[in-house]
Amino acid sequence: MKNITIRDKEFTPFISYDEIEIRIRELARRVNEDYADREPLFLAILNGSFMFAADLFKYLDISCAISFVKLASYKGTTSTGTVVSLIGLDESLKNRDVIVLEDIVDTGKTLSNLLPSIEEHSPASLRVMTLLNKPDARTHQVQVDYVGFDIPNKFIVGYGLDYDGLARNLRDIYQLVE
Ligand code: 5GP
Ligand code: MG
Repeated sequence: MKNITIRDKEFTPFISYDEIEIRIRELARRVNEDYADREPLFLAILNGSFMFAADLFKYLDISCAISFVKLASYKGTTSTGTVVSLIGLDESLKNRDVIVLEDIVDTGKTLSNLLPSIEEHSPASLRVMTLLNKPDARTHQVQVDYVGFDIPNKFIVGYGLDYDGLARNLRDIYQLVE
């Protein structure tokens, strides 16, 4: 595989689609086990997670549902600061086993703002799955239950993740050349 250029930046191959697929099958196997007698509702966070969600779902053989949602953040009136709300949520989360699907957890800010808003809907359980995780970038403590890949704190694109709106269509994941 070769380096690619997107706009003004150069990226180098980092995780191949073959590796991604193997890892996604393993994540699906664990969900199939952990939720064998339940019926989880996945909340896939748009835009980045669309490709991950689609591939993961091909390997789930339990009864399960998915809702694709967007996040809107605004300044909260309390001392908690930023509040994140879900746009496009058409199911009730009450008493559901919810699994949030993220493309990547970086600083953890998004999730640490989002999870309390979900808890307010009284789900039966709440877990987080992310394809990619940057532990070294964390500034906000968040619980992440299922991780595809722990990666270094470098900017990546492809497989749903964008740079300036581009590169989401790449099958493989690329890392910024610095
Ligand atoms: P956090 O709130 O955890 O810092 O970041 C969450 C969001 O930042 C991710 O859902 C993603 O949209 C974006 N993000 C973080 N790191 C990267 C990266 O390396 N590449 C791309 N394309 N987006 C990233
Ligand atoms: Mg995201």
